[in-house]
Amino acid sequence: MKTVVVGAGLSGLTLAERILSSGTGEQVTVLEREDTPGGLARSFRIDGFDFDIGPHRFHTFNTEVDSYLLEILADCFVQISRRSSVHMAGKYRNWPLTPTSVAGLPFPVLWKSFLDLFNKPDIPVINSFADFIRSRYGDNLYNFFFSGYTRKFTGIDAEMLHVDWAQAGVNRAVIDNRVKADSLLSLVKGMLLPQPVETKFYYPACGGIQTFCNLQCERIEALGGKLLLSTPVKGLSIENNSVSGIVLENGESIPADRVFWTAPITILYPETGLTFINTLIANVALADEIPRNDYQWCYFGHEDLIFSRLTVPRNFRADCVPPGKGSVIAEITCDSDSEFWKNPETIRERLINNLKSVRAVAGDDILFINWQRIRETYPVYTLDYKEKLSSIHIPNGLFLTGRCGSFWYNNMDHSIAQSLSIVQGSEFKKDFWNER
Ligand SMILES: Cc1cc2nc3c(=O)[nH]c(=O)nc-3n(C[C@H](O)[C@H](O)[C@H](O)COP(=O)(O)OP(=O)(O)OC[C@H]3O[C@@H](n4cnc5c(N)ncnc54)[C@H](O)[C@@H]3O)c2cc1C
Repeated sequence: MKTVVVGAGLSGLTLAERILSSGTGEQVTVLEREDTPGGLARSFRIDGFDFDIGPHRFHTFNTEVDSYLLEILADCFVQISRRSSVHMAGKYRNWPLTPTSVAGLPFPVLWKSFLDLFNKPDIPVINSFADFIRSRYGDNLYNFFFSGYTRKFTGIDAEMLHVDWAQAGVNRAVIDNRVKADSLLSLVKGMLLPQPVETKFYYPACGGIQTFCNLQCERIEALGGKLLLSTPVKGLSIENNSVSGIVLENGESIPADRVFWTAPITILYPETGLTFINTLIANVALADEIPRNDYQWCYFGHEDLIFSRLTVPRNFRADCVPPGKGSVIAEITCDSDSEFWKNPETIRERLINNLKSVRAVAGDDILFINWQRIRETYPVYTLDYKEKLSSIHIPNGLFLTGRCGSFWYNNMDHSIAQSLSIVQGSEFKKDFWNER
């Protein structure tokens, strides 16, 4: 059996590593477009600074995924308590909200939100992300934060996004389903808890999140698998409705009895009109420790700010930065046609001014800004995305999986779980939020 895995992100590497570990004697080849493995869980080490594609927190309630993670990392991990923020009304506030963080919100916002507790909008059928948020949090918080944040992040109005975006976006922001933040009432209840839930997540003990994928690659190669980097795939060869191989961008073909496709589904099915968001990442190295930023990551809804999220690597692991130094990562979602994407330097001044305005940098402390253009970071759930997906014809021997391959907003643990399910022949449930 010749197995080809397209994409060396977490899904592809987990598939390859598990198939090889099962000792069935299959030939496994992993083909990766980039010159390094990791996919979206990639890291960049620059002058002693470790940057991820927005530092990644690994958290799961799935015991199989947890065991797999620990098997690969062995003792190379640390456990860290989650600290997220949201920047609202000019201030950093804990997310989910706490009594202290709510205290400083403008009175009209608080009062209207209080009234929304008793005055839910009447939305008989929840179709869109806007319907979901308005029905759960009320019109006031929707208008005050979610609507602007969503437009800025996805480039689409919340009314035009499928309700699945809520499961993906809102619930993932807290990463722990014991933390109830999925409605206004649960936010209020959570705020009043005497002991907030403490969520711990894993992070590698050295390097960035890519350390995990690097360890998987070592195993794959030790088990006789082939890993070909800088090898972009163009498409499939199909005979009698069955996959017979893959075609590389350089025109070469590689025979395959089955293909696990974790690269964007749109490469194989451009006619569906499915799309992804791209993210421009600004890795900003700082000459001091920026002790003023004590969150790991923070969401910014204000449409004047160019970034939608900032992360602070030293609050993941202190040695992600050289001693005494600091860094911050800004995520700017954008279209690949935009000027930002083509020439990031054109927004340098605006970025610095925005970072100064939220006190993330002083300005004169910037050592360098490294730009990374990351393609296909988020699947866009338009209202008709399910119909588009169901129009796809899948030949025998092709498995569409992973975040981009199955067009499902996986976190790392879901990508691993999806691969483990495939290898075991069990069903992968997409309803992550209720997985406990
Ligand atoms: C900014 C950001 C922050 C995130 N933070 C977290 C977090 O804190 N916690 C968490 O659990 N998850 C987080 N995630 C999600 C996590 O990164 C993904 O769920 C996970 O990495 C997906 O792995 P994957 O293998 O399914 O997909 P991918 O990582 O997308 O892998 C697909 C692979 O296919 C390759 N490829 C693409 N085209 C081709 C081609 N033509 N030929 C060959 N190869 C190709 C790509 O280069 C890539 O390596 C975050 C994602 C982003 C974008």
